[in-house]
Amino acid sequence: MDRTQLLNKLWEYQQQFGYISNQAILEISKLLNVSNIEIESVISFYHFFHKTPTGKHLIYLNNSIISEFKGFDEVKTTFEKETGCTFNEPGNNEFTLLETSCIGLNDQEPAALINFQPFTDLTPKKVKLIIQKIKNGENVKDFCSKTISKIRFTPKNDKTVIFRNYRMGESLQQMQKFSPQQIIAKISKSKVQGCGGAFFPTGYKWQSCRNNEDDAKYIICNADEGEPGTFKDRALLQHLPGLLFEGMTIAGYATGAKEGIIYLRAEYFFILPELEALLQEFRNKNYLGKNILGINNFEFNIRIQMGAGSYVCGAASALIESLEGRRGEPPVRTHSATKHGYLQKPTVVNNVETLCYAARIIELGEDFFLNIGTPESPGTKLISISGDVAKPGIYEIEYGTSIRDLLGIEMSQATSPYFVQVSGPSGECINNTEFDRKICREDILCGGAFMVFNRNRDILQVLRNFMEFFKEESCGVCTPCRAGNYILTEKIKKIQRGLCAQEDVDEMKQWGKIIKLTSRCGLGKSSANTVTMAVDKFKDYFNVKIAPSNFNKTVEFDMEDAIHEFDSIIKETQL
Ligand code: SF4
Repeated sequence: MDRTQLLNKLWEYQQQFGYISNQAILEISKLLNVSNIEIESVISFYHFFHKTPTGKHLIYLNNSIISEFKGFDEVKTTFEKETGCTFNEPGNNEFTLLETSCIGLNDQEPAALINFQPFTDLTPKKVKLIIQKIKNGENVKDFCSKTISKIRFTPKNDKTVIFRNYRMGESLQQMQKFSPQQIIAKISKSKVQGCGGAFFPTGYKWQSCRNNEDDAKYIICNADEGEPGTFKDRALLQHLPGLLFEGMTIAGYATGAKEGIIYLRAEYFFILPELEALLQEFRNKNYLGKNILGINNFEFNIRIQMGAGSYVCGAASALIESLEGRRGEPPVRTHSATKHGYLQKPTVVNNVETLCYAARIIELGEDFFLNIGTPESPGTKLISISGDVAKPGIYEIEYGTSIRDLLGIEMSQATSPYFVQVSGPSGECINNTEFDRKICREDILCGGAFMVFNRNRDILQVLRNFMEFFKEESCGVCTPCRAGNYILTEKIKKIQRGLCAQEDVDEMKQWGKIIKLTSRCGLGKSSANTVTMAVDKFKDYFNVKIAPSNFNKTVEFDMEDAIHEFDSIIKETQL
């Protein structure tokens, strides 16, 4: 057993004892030949590992902005009242209450995980009932929520069919008619691009991996969607896991990889049993294993690796670190994963949705795909819509669909949309003069999250929630990201207190630039996007907030305070 098993071992101990004790660390250290200190540092990196005992029932309540606007405070108070515990403190023998940032259930907020089982659409009444049942000794698995969100198809658009009518094994049957090189040519021609947010051409990635000769290669499925507002991959994992397995197998066939790993976020533990069962069915049918479908020497298998709670692990390089049993800190990149990826071997890292598209492209043909969407963005895209809409959920849309259509009566039925966040907190905010913009490479790309806020919502509360999220999720390696996100959060609080001057807004923009230019990974490069855009796009709103009449001497005092706190952070870093 080697270090790649570290996360699994930590989960084993935690699930058995409720936490990871010093004794457990000693045992794991011996078993995997990893020092105690390193194991401690790995434990401290991930949100879901605990070094001290927790209550028998671990409750993670989602504090996303959608949850905040849908009753988070009342639900939180009721949990505290009913359990006698306080959030983010150790709790008692029975319960530990913790807040967490995104659990992939934004269409059913407020939502929580209790012992990693989902509980959705929470109300104070529901919470009382849940806690009562737990106190009566009922198992949460027996009464948790059914979270299957249907994929909705755009009405009156018969082109949004990529995720309809899946038949197990169909794409693999098509695959065997072509050589690996022909498969890559088809994927390249289709122009399918990474659907996790990077939009990198998939065919190019597969070709690059194929070009690197090696005895071992890997296909890694990134099932760690952690961007607040995104839950489309959960729908695919719940509705169409077979399509994903086929996509991974096709990627293995095309590149020469024999092993596939699904890196599944811990928030989706509740999907794991069904995925494992289907993987076994695939093996039984010879859709996985050796000589798949009788193809000589074609061998491919898939295993699932659970994550442990870290947004930044959604970045491919950090995800690979995590798979290797390390802290999920994005390394300085000197080469691409297709050359030196997992265990330094050629590796393709693709998002769940991308791999599902790949399977359907092989099944339906690349021309089918090219006939949908726009010239630069052929095909369709899954969008998770949440917030102030009558019909939240996951929509398959044709590329080129306008924001107005997404908000409209045929789709999500938004109510007085005012501030629309495309691609989650790291994406772009849209005001109501931009609703004719289109989702596609030619205009605005969307990784999957689409959050709608109406006129009654406080933009500063949205921005503060986003910045608190980045502050919490920054891995801390780069000072501009660690300190800059903190400073931007403080600035937003300052505007909320009515103490903001124009200079503060200018400083916010400057900080935004610094963080973007000097941070190592996507988190830092994008965390200030929304804040800096919002002050320009919602000028009327901000003009009121920073009106000269609001300005007083306290501003100077607060500035001193912030500088002092910043100095402390720098000193801490140097220690
Ligand atoms: Fe970590 Fe932020 Fe640097 Fe990314 S940008 S490596 S999250 S500190």
